[in-house]
Amino acid sequence: MRGTSEVTRTVIVRSVPLPRRTFRIFVELEGMYRNIVEQLVLYAVNNNITKFTRLKAEKYREVRSLYPQLPSHYAYTACQDAAERAHSFLRMRKIGRARKAYPEVRSVSIWLDDHLWRAEGLTSISLATHRGRVNVSIELNKHFLRYVNRGWRLASEAKVKLDRRERRLVFYLTFKKEVSEYRPKAYITVDVNENAEAVLIDGVVYLFETDLSRVTLGYYYRRKRVQEKYDRAYGPGSRPVRRVLRRLGNNEKALKKGVRWKLAALIVREAARRQAAIVLERLGKEPANHMIKRIKDHQLRHRVYQAAFKGVQRAIEEKAREYGVPVIYVDPRNTSKICPIHGTEIIYGRNRHGVCSKGGETWHRDVVACYNLLLRALGGDGGYAPSRLRAFVAVDGGPVPLGPTAAHEPAGVPRALWARWRSLGATSDHKLVRVST
Ligand SMILES: [Zn+2]
Repeated sequence: MRGTSEVTRTVIVRSVPLPRRTFRIFVELEGMYRNIVEQLVLYAVNNNITKFTRLKAEKYREVRSLYPQLPSHYAYTACQDAAERAHSFLRMRKIGRARKAYPEVRSVSIWLDDHLWRAEGLTSISLATHRGRVNVSIELNKHFLRYVNRGWRLASEAKVKLDRRERRLVFYLTFKKEVSEYRPKAYITVDVNENAEAVLIDGVVYLFETDLSRVTLGYYYRRKRVQEKYDRAYGPGSRPVRRVLRRLGNNEKALKKGVRWKLAALIVREAARRQAAIVLERLGKEPANHMIKRIKDHQLRHRVYQAAFKGVQRAIEEKAREYGVPVIYVDPRNTSKICPIHGTEIIYGRNRHGVCSKGGETWHRDVVACYNLLLRALGGDGGYAPSRLRAFVAVDGGPVPLGPTAAHEPAGVPRALWARWRSLGATSDHKLVRVST
Protein backbone atom coordinates (compact mmCIF):
# COMPACT_ATOMS: atom_id res chain seq x y z
CA MET A 1 0.00 0.00 0.00
CA ARG A 2 3.07 2.28 -0.17
CA GLY A 3 1.94 5.28 -2.15
CA THR A 4 3.84 7.69 -4.29
CA SER A 5 2.69 11.25 -4.06
CA GLU A 6 3.66 14.53 -5.59
CA VAL A 7 4.78 17.20 -3.17
CA THR A 8 4.52 20.85 -4.16
CA ARG A 9 6.21 23.88 -2.65
CA THR A 10 6.05 27.54 -3.64
CA VAL A 11 9.25 29.55 -3.52
CA ILE A 12 9.46 33.32 -3.86
CA VAL A 13 12.21 34.82 -6.01
CA ARG A 14 12.64 38.53 -6.68
CA SER A 15 14.14 40.22 -9.69
CA VAL A 16 16.78 42.88 -9.34
CA PRO A 17 15.36 46.44 -9.46
CA LEU A 18 14.43 47.05 -13.10
CA PRO A 19 15.08 50.09 -15.26
CA ARG A 20 12.04 52.36 -15.54
CA ARG A 21 11.55 51.55 -19.20
CA THR A 22 11.55 47.80 -18.64
CA PHE A 23 9.29 48.02 -15.62
CA ARG A 24 6.77 50.04 -17.62
CA ILE A 25 6.30 47.09 -19.98
CA PHE A 26 5.21 44.97 -17.02
CA VAL A 27 2.90 47.69 -15.71
CA GLU A 28 1.17 47.70 -19.12
CA LEU A 29 1.06 43.93 -19.17
CA GLU A 30 -0.47 43.79 -15.70
CA GLY A 31 -3.09 46.38 -16.73
CA MET A 32 -4.22 44.30 -19.69
CA TYR A 33 -4.17 41.09 -17.69
CA ARG A 34 -6.20 42.66 -14.90
CA ASN A 35 -8.73 43.96 -17.38
CA ILE A 36 -9.15 40.53 -18.93
CA VAL A 37 -9.52 38.83 -15.56
CA GLU A 38 -12.10 41.40 -14.40
CA GLN A 39 -14.24 40.82 -17.47
CA LEU A 40 -13.91 37.07 -17.23
CA VAL A 41 -14.80 36.96 -13.54
CA LEU A 42 -17.87 39.08 -14.14
CA TYR A 43 -19.01 36.79 -16.94
CA ALA A 44 -18.23 33.64 -14.98
CA VAL A 45 -20.15 34.79 -11.89
CA ASN A 46 -23.13 35.93 -13.97
CA ASN A 47 -23.27 32.59 -15.72
CA ASN A 48 -22.41 30.46 -12.73
CA ILE A 49 -19.25 29.14 -14.34
CA THR A 50 -16.59 27.64 -12.10
CA LYS A 51 -14.83 25.41 -14.58
CA PHE A 52 -11.84 26.68 -16.51
CA THR A 53 -12.64 24.54 -19.55
CA ARG A 54 -16.10 26.03 -19.95
CA LEU A 55 -14.95 29.59 -19.39
CA LYS A 56 -12.22 29.13 -21.96
CA ALA A 57 -14.61 27.52 -24.46
CA GLU A 58 -16.99 30.47 -24.22
CA LYS A 59 -14.66 33.45 -23.88
CA TYR A 60 -11.20 32.66 -25.20
CA ARG A 61 -11.78 34.03 -28.70
CA GLU A 62 -13.27 37.27 -27.45
CA VAL A 63 -10.48 37.82 -24.94
CA ARG A 64 -7.87 37.14 -27.60
CA SER A 65 -9.27 39.81 -29.88
CA LEU A 66 -9.33 42.32 -27.03
CA TYR A 67 -5.54 42.57 -26.95
CA PRO A 68 -4.19 40.95 -30.12
CA GLN A 69 -0.66 42.14 -29.32
CA LEU A 70 -0.62 40.09 -26.10
CA PRO A 71 0.85 36.57 -26.32
CA SER A 72 -2.12 34.25 -26.67
CA HIS A 73 -1.32 32.20 -23.59
CA TYR A 74 -2.19 35.10 -21.30
CA ALA A 75 -5.80 34.70 -22.41
CA TYR A 76 -5.46 31.08 -21.45
CA THR A 77 -3.98 31.63 -17.98
CA ALA A 78 -6.40 34.52 -17.33
CA CYS A 79 -9.23 32.05 -17.87
CA GLN A 80 -7.71 29.76 -15.24
CA ASP A 81 -7.20 32.66 -12.85
CA ALA A 82 -10.75 33.95 -13.37
CA ALA A 83 -12.34 30.52 -13.07
CA GLU A 84 -10.67 30.03 -9.71
CA ARG A 85 -11.74 33.46 -8.47
CA ALA A 86 -15.32 32.86 -9.63
CA HIS A 87 -15.32 29.45 -8.02
CA SER A 88 -14.28 30.69 -4.59
CA PHE A 89 -16.60 33.70 -4.82
CA LEU A 90 -19.63 31.57 -5.70
CA ARG A 91 -18.81 29.20 -2.88
CA MET A 92 -18.61 32.07 -0.40
CA ARG A 93 -21.88 33.51 -1.69
CA LYS A 94 -23.56 30.14 -1.29
CA ILE A 95 -22.71 30.01 2.39
CA GLY A 96 -23.66 33.68 2.78
CA ARG A 97 -20.15 34.97 3.33
CA ALA A 98 -19.66 37.11 0.22
CA ARG A 99 -19.59 40.74 1.22
CA LYS A 100 -20.12 42.22 -2.24
CA ALA A 101 -22.46 41.41 -5.11
CA TYR A 102 -19.46 40.77 -7.37
CA PRO A 103 -15.94 39.69 -6.64
CA GLU A 104 -13.43 42.49 -6.66
CA VAL A 105 -10.19 41.90 -8.52
CA ARG A 106 -7.99 43.72 -6.08
CA SER A 107 -4.54 42.27 -6.10
CA VAL A 108 -3.33 40.74 -9.30
CA SER A 109 -0.62 38.21 -9.80
CA ILE A 110 -0.16 37.27 -13.40
CA TRP A 111 -0.47 33.54 -14.01
CA LEU A 112 2.20 32.11 -16.27
CA ASP A 113 2.55 28.85 -18.12
CA ASP A 114 5.47 27.24 -19.94
CA HIS A 115 4.95 29.41 -23.04
CA LEU A 116 5.05 32.63 -21.06
CA TRP A 117 8.15 32.20 -18.96
CA ARG A 118 11.30 30.17 -18.73
CA ALA A 119 14.31 30.10 -16.45
CA GLU A 120 17.54 31.01 -18.18
CA GLY A 121 19.95 29.12 -16.02
CA LEU A 122 19.72 30.07 -12.37
CA THR A 123 20.19 33.79 -12.72
CA SER A 124 17.52 35.12 -15.04
CA ILE A 125 13.98 34.60 -16.18
CA SER A 126 12.63 35.35 -19.62
CA LEU A 127 9.03 36.51 -19.98
CA ALA A 128 6.82 36.79 -23.04
CA THR A 129 5.18 40.22 -23.22
CA HIS A 130 3.28 42.35 -25.75
CA ARG A 131 6.70 43.88 -26.56
CA GLY A 132 8.42 40.58 -27.19
CA ARG A 133 10.49 38.53 -24.77
CA VAL A 134 12.05 40.39 -21.85
CA ASN A 135 14.85 39.02 -19.73
CA VAL A 136 15.09 39.94 -16.07
CA SER A 137 17.88 39.04 -13.67
CA ILE A 138 16.85 37.44 -10.43
CA GLU A 139 18.35 37.63 -6.98
CA LEU A 140 19.30 34.18 -5.85
CA ASN A 141 18.27 33.22 -2.38
CA LYS A 142 19.07 30.32 -0.07
CA HIS A 143 15.56 28.98 -0.18
CA PHE A 144 15.53 28.76 -3.97
CA LEU A 145 18.94 27.10 -4.16
CA ARG A 146 18.00 24.58 -1.52
CA TYR A 147 15.17 23.27 -3.67
CA VAL A 148 17.31 23.29 -6.80
CA ASN A 149 20.08 21.36 -5.07
CA ARG A 150 17.81 18.79 -3.51
CA GLY A 151 16.47 17.47 -6.78
CA TRP A 152 13.15 19.28 -6.88
CA ARG A 153 11.78 19.95 -10.32
CA LEU A 154 10.69 23.43 -11.34
CA ALA A 155 7.08 23.26 -12.53
CA SER A 156 5.85 25.08 -15.61
CA GLU A 157 3.18 27.05 -13.78
CA ALA A 158 4.31 30.21 -12.02
CA LYS A 159 2.94 33.59 -11.00
CA VAL A 160 4.46 37.02 -11.08
CA LYS A 161 3.56 40.14 -9.13
CA LEU A 162 4.77 43.72 -9.47
CA ASP A 163 6.52 45.45 -6.62
CA ARG A 164 5.99 49.06 -7.68
CA ARG A 165 7.87 50.62 -4.82
CA GLU A 166 11.11 48.84 -5.61
CA ARG A 167 10.45 48.32 -9.34
CA ARG A 168 10.98 44.60 -9.05
CA LEU A 169 9.14 41.54 -10.22
CA VAL A 170 8.24 38.99 -7.56
CA PHE A 171 8.02 35.45 -8.88
CA TYR A 172 6.11 32.66 -7.20
CA LEU A 173 7.78 29.54 -8.51
CA THR A 174 6.50 26.04 -7.93
CA PHE A 175 8.79 23.14 -7.15
CA LYS A 176 7.61 19.55 -7.36
CA LYS A 177 8.97 16.24 -6.28
CA GLU A 178 7.75 12.67 -6.47
CA VAL A 179 8.12 11.02 -3.12
CA SER A 180 7.37 7.42 -2.33
CA GLU A 181 6.74 6.20 1.17
CA TYR A 182 9.12 3.69 2.62
CA ARG A 183 8.15 0.60 4.55
CA PRO A 184 8.57 1.53 8.22
CA LYS A 185 11.16 -0.27 10.31
CA ALA A 186 10.16 1.45 13.55
CA TYR A 187 7.60 3.83 15.02
CA ILE A 188 7.76 7.31 16.43
CA THR A 189 4.62 8.23 18.32
CA VAL A 190 3.45 11.77 18.89
CA ASP A 191 0.99 12.75 21.57
CA VAL A 192 -0.12 16.35 21.26
CA ASN A 193 -1.39 18.34 24.17
CA GLU A 194 -2.26 22.00 24.53
CA ASN A 195 1.23 23.24 25.22
CA ALA A 196 3.58 20.44 24.26
CA GLU A 197 4.16 17.54 21.92
CA ALA A 198 5.34 14.33 23.56
CA VAL A 199 7.41 12.25 21.15
CA LEU A 200 8.57 8.68 21.74
CA ILE A 201 11.84 8.04 19.93
CA ASP A 202 14.05 5.02 20.62
CA GLY A 203 12.46 4.39 23.98
CA VAL A 204 12.77 7.97 25.22
CA VAL A 205 9.79 10.31 25.52
CA TYR A 206 10.76 13.88 24.74
CA LEU A 207 8.34 16.54 25.82
CA PHE A 208 8.79 19.42 23.39
CA GLU A 209 7.15 22.52 24.75
CA THR A 210 5.17 24.56 22.23
CA ASP A 211 3.07 26.84 24.44
CA LEU A 212 0.52 27.03 21.64
CA SER A 213 -2.56 27.42 23.76
CA ARG A 214 -0.83 29.96 25.97
CA VAL A 215 0.02 31.94 22.82
CA THR A 216 -3.58 31.75 21.60
CA LEU A 217 -5.02 32.78 24.92
CA GLY A 218 -2.45 35.52 25.40
CA TYR A 219 -3.23 37.12 22.06
CA TYR A 220 -6.94 36.69 22.61
CA TYR A 221 -6.90 38.70 25.81
CA ARG A 222 -4.50 41.23 24.38
CA ARG A 223 -6.81 41.84 21.42
CA LYS A 224 -9.73 42.22 23.76
CA ARG A 225 -7.92 44.84 25.82
CA VAL A 226 -6.80 46.75 22.72
CA GLN A 227 -10.31 46.69 21.30
CA GLU A 228 -11.87 48.03 24.48
CA LYS A 229 -9.30 50.76 24.80
CA TYR A 230 -9.62 51.95 21.18
CA ASP A 231 -13.39 51.65 21.13
CA ARG A 232 -13.55 54.00 24.10
CA ALA A 233 -11.28 56.51 22.37
CA TYR A 234 -12.43 56.33 18.73
CA GLY A 235 -15.78 54.58 18.79
CA PRO A 236 -16.36 50.99 17.74
CA GLY A 237 -14.64 49.51 14.67
CA SER A 238 -12.38 52.50 13.96
CA ARG A 239 -9.60 52.37 11.42
CA PRO A 240 -6.73 52.51 13.96
CA VAL A 241 -8.13 49.62 15.96
CA ARG A 242 -8.54 47.52 12.82
CA ARG A 243 -4.92 48.18 11.95
CA VAL A 244 -3.62 47.20 15.37
CA LEU A 245 -5.78 44.10 15.50
CA ARG A 246 -4.62 43.02 12.07
CA ARG A 247 -1.01 43.39 13.11
CA LEU A 248 -1.58 41.39 16.28
CA GLY A 249 -3.35 38.71 14.27
CA ASN A 250 -0.48 38.43 11.82
CA ASN A 251 2.09 38.20 14.60
CA GLU A 252 0.14 35.47 16.29
CA LYS A 253 -0.23 33.48 13.10
CA ALA A 254 3.44 33.77 12.19
CA LEU A 255 4.58 32.77 15.66
CA LYS A 256 2.38 29.68 15.78
CA LYS A 257 3.22 28.66 12.26
CA GLY A 258 6.93 28.92 13.00
CA VAL A 259 6.61 26.77 16.11
CA ARG A 260 4.56 24.09 14.38
CA TRP A 261 6.76 23.86 11.30
CA LYS A 262 10.05 23.78 13.13
CA LEU A 263 8.94 21.02 15.45
CA ALA A 264 7.29 19.05 12.63
CA ALA A 265 10.52 19.25 10.65
CA LEU A 266 12.55 18.02 13.63
CA ILE A 267 10.24 15.05 14.26
CA VAL A 268 9.98 14.11 10.59
CA ARG A 269 13.74 14.25 10.06
CA GLU A 270 14.25 11.90 13.01
CA ALA A 271 11.62 9.56 11.57
CA ALA A 272 13.23 9.60 8.13
CA ARG A 273 16.67 8.90 9.59
CA ARG A 274 15.29 5.78 11.29
CA GLN A 275 12.97 4.86 8.42
CA ALA A 276 10.20 5.04 11.01
CA ALA A 277 6.49 5.72 10.64
CA ILE A 278 4.92 8.52 12.66
CA VAL A 279 1.95 7.53 14.78
CA LEU A 280 -0.69 10.18 15.49
CA GLU A 281 -4.03 10.22 17.26
CA ARG A 282 -7.00 10.20 14.96
CA LEU A 283 -8.73 13.47 15.82
CA GLY A 284 -12.43 14.14 15.57
CA LYS A 285 -13.93 17.18 13.91
CA GLU A 286 -15.19 18.72 17.09
CA PRO A 287 -12.93 20.16 19.74
CA ALA A 288 -14.13 17.50 22.15
CA ASN A 289 -10.76 17.11 23.74
CA HIS A 290 -11.15 17.05 27.48
CA MET A 291 -8.25 19.41 27.95
CA ILE A 292 -9.97 22.39 26.36
CA LYS A 293 -13.55 21.68 27.38
CA ARG A 294 -13.21 24.10 30.24
CA ILE A 295 -12.93 27.02 27.80
CA LYS A 296 -16.46 28.37 27.57
CA ASP A 297 -16.11 30.72 24.59
CA HIS A 298 -16.89 28.57 21.54
CA GLN A 299 -14.73 30.48 19.07
CA LEU A 300 -11.80 30.61 21.43
CA ARG A 301 -12.07 26.89 22.10
CA HIS A 302 -12.04 26.26 18.38
CA ARG A 303 -8.92 28.39 17.97
CA VAL A 304 -7.05 26.66 20.78
CA TYR A 305 -8.01 23.32 19.28
CA GLN A 306 -6.87 24.27 15.82
CA ALA A 307 -3.58 25.66 17.07
CA ALA A 308 -2.72 22.83 19.40
CA PHE A 309 -4.13 19.76 17.71
CA LYS A 310 -5.28 20.07 14.11
CA GLY A 311 -2.63 22.59 13.13
CA VAL A 312 0.17 20.55 14.66
CA GLN A 313 -0.97 17.39 12.92
CA ARG A 314 -1.29 19.13 9.58
CA ALA A 315 2.26 20.43 9.81
CA ILE A 316 3.57 16.93 10.59
CA GLU A 317 1.53 15.38 7.77
CA GLU A 318 2.78 17.87 5.23
CA LYS A 319 6.40 17.59 6.26
CA ALA A 320 6.09 13.79 6.35
CA ARG A 321 4.87 13.73 2.74
CA GLU A 322 7.96 15.62 1.69
CA TYR A 323 10.27 12.99 3.22
CA GLY A 324 8.16 9.96 2.32
CA VAL A 325 7.51 9.23 5.98
CA PRO A 326 4.38 7.10 6.49
CA VAL A 327 1.84 8.48 8.95
CA ILE A 328 -0.39 6.10 10.87
CA TYR A 329 -3.52 7.11 12.77
CA VAL A 330 -4.79 5.27 15.79
CA ASP A 331 -7.82 5.53 18.04
CA PRO A 332 -7.01 8.06 20.75
CA ARG A 333 -9.55 6.85 23.30
CA ASN A 334 -8.18 6.28 26.79
CA THR A 335 -4.58 6.41 25.62
CA SER A 336 -3.47 8.03 28.84
CA LYS A 337 -5.64 6.01 31.21
CA ILE A 338 -4.31 2.46 30.86
CA CYS A 339 -0.91 1.28 32.06
CA PRO A 340 1.13 0.19 29.03
CA ILE A 341 2.78 -2.61 31.04
CA HIS A 342 -0.09 -4.06 33.08
CA GLY A 343 -3.12 -3.01 31.06
CA THR A 344 -4.81 -1.72 34.20
CA GLU A 345 -6.09 1.71 35.09
CA ILE A 346 -3.76 4.49 36.13
CA ILE A 347 -5.01 6.69 38.94
CA TYR A 348 -4.08 10.32 38.39
CA GLY A 349 -3.67 12.87 41.10
CA ARG A 350 -3.77 16.62 40.67
CA ASN A 351 -0.82 16.97 38.32
CA ARG A 352 0.07 14.98 35.22
CA HIS A 353 1.41 12.09 37.29
CA GLY A 354 -0.47 8.91 38.09
CA VAL A 355 0.02 5.56 39.78
CA CYS A 356 -0.65 2.18 38.18
CA SER A 357 -3.42 0.38 40.06
CA LYS A 358 -1.65 -2.97 39.68
CA GLY A 359 2.10 -2.45 39.68
CA GLY A 360 2.07 0.72 41.76
CA GLU A 361 4.61 2.41 39.49
CA THR A 362 4.40 6.12 38.75
CA TRP A 363 3.64 7.42 35.28
CA HIS A 364 3.65 10.74 33.53
CA ARG A 365 0.49 11.13 31.49
CA ASP A 366 2.26 11.92 28.22
CA VAL A 367 4.61 8.96 28.56
CA VAL A 368 1.62 6.67 29.00
CA ALA A 369 -0.06 8.17 25.95
CA CYS A 370 3.03 7.75 23.77
CA TYR A 371 3.47 4.08 24.67
CA ASN A 372 -0.21 3.30 24.22
CA LEU A 373 -0.16 4.93 20.78
CA LEU A 374 2.76 2.63 19.97
CA LEU A 375 0.82 -0.43 21.19
CA ARG A 376 -2.13 0.49 19.04
CA ALA A 377 0.05 1.06 16.01
CA LEU A 378 1.44 -2.43 16.51
CA GLY A 379 -2.05 -3.81 16.29
CA GLY A 380 -3.08 -4.23 19.89
CA ASP A 381 -5.48 -2.05 21.80
CA GLY A 382 -3.35 -1.84 24.91
CA GLY A 383 -5.39 -4.49 26.64
CA TYR A 384 -3.80 -7.67 25.29
CA ALA A 385 -0.53 -9.06 26.49
CA PRO A 386 0.80 -10.39 23.15
CA SER A 387 0.87 -6.97 21.49
CA ARG A 388 2.39 -5.48 24.62
CA LEU A 389 5.17 -8.01 24.49
CA ARG A 390 5.78 -7.24 20.84
CA ALA A 391 6.00 -3.57 21.59
CA PHE A 392 8.70 -4.01 24.14
CA VAL A 393 10.81 -6.42 22.20
CA ALA A 394 10.67 -5.74 18.51
CA VAL A 395 10.16 -2.07 17.94
CA ASP A 396 13.61 -0.91 17.00
CA GLY A 397 15.40 -4.20 16.94
CA GLY A 398 16.29 -4.07 20.62
CA PRO A 399 14.35 -4.14 23.85
CA VAL A 400 12.63 -0.93 24.82
CA PRO A 401 13.75 0.17 28.25
CA LEU A 402 10.38 0.12 29.90
CA GLY A 403 10.47 -2.00 32.99
CA PRO A 404 8.42 -1.32 36.11
CA THR A 405 11.51 0.15 37.71
CA ALA A 406 12.36 2.63 34.95
CA ALA A 407 11.65 6.29 35.51
CA HIS A 408 8.55 6.89 33.40
CA GLU A 409 9.31 10.52 33.10
CA PRO A 410 9.58 12.50 29.87
CA ALA A 411 12.64 14.54 29.03
CA GLY A 412 11.28 18.08 28.93
CA VAL A 413 12.69 20.32 26.23
CA PRO A 414 11.85 24.04 26.41
CA ARG A 415 10.97 25.76 23.14
CA ALA A 416 13.98 28.04 23.29
CA LEU A 417 16.17 24.94 23.24
CA TRP A 418 14.61 22.69 20.58
CA ALA A 419 13.97 25.61 18.25
CA ARG A 420 17.71 25.71 17.60
CA TRP A 421 18.09 21.99 16.97
CA ARG A 422 18.50 20.45 13.56
CA SER A 423 18.39 16.97 15.05
CA LEU A 424 18.13 15.08 18.31
CA GLY A 425 21.89 14.61 18.19
CA ALA A 426 22.06 18.03 19.70
CA THR A 427 20.60 16.68 22.94
CA SER A 428 23.96 15.48 24.21
CA ASP A 429 25.33 19.02 24.19
CA HIS A 430 22.55 20.38 26.34
CA LYS A 431 21.01 19.57 29.61
CA LEU A 432 17.46 18.40 29.41
CA VAL A 433 15.06 19.80 31.92
CA ARG A 434 13.13 17.51 34.22
CA VAL A 435 9.46 18.36 34.01
CA SER A 436 7.63 18.81 37.23
CA THR A 437 4.13 19.73 36.08
ZN1 LIG B 1 1.41 -0.77 35.55
